Amino acid sequence: MKQELFEAKGFCKFCDQGRMIKAPAGANEDELNELATMECTCDKAKHYQNKENKKKQCFDWIENRWSQDEETKRLFIQAACNIIEYKAKQVTIVKGEWKHVIDMNNDGLLTIKSSKKVDEEVSF
Ligand SMILES: [Zn+2]
Repeated sequence: MKQELFEAKGFCKFCDQGRMIKAPAGANEDELNELATMECTCDKAKHYQNKENKKKQCFDWIENRWSQDEETKRLFIQAACNIIEYKAKQVTIVKGEWKHVIDMNNDGLLTIKSSKKVDEEVSF
């Protein structure tokens, strides 16, 4: 479905700079400001855009990876949100034999490491 876009004015949430943006019909003031913020070039807006883009990429990945498993998907989304919002430094999810560690490295990249317990010990 193609959504029709209209020219509208929004204001950056950080520097308050107004700009003309293309917005979907019926967008409210908050949505217009959000769009303007996503196009603004001030430092705070750039930081915000970076964070929002990262969030989107990460959620797309989670959505794909866990499309068959609602519960794990929910856990991952919650973990990623907490890390992106700096509420947690690292989150570990243990599911069956798998261990997933989600954290943000020093370059500000959100990383998800999954490992499977492969140790095997047999005694007789
Ligand atoms: Zn701005």
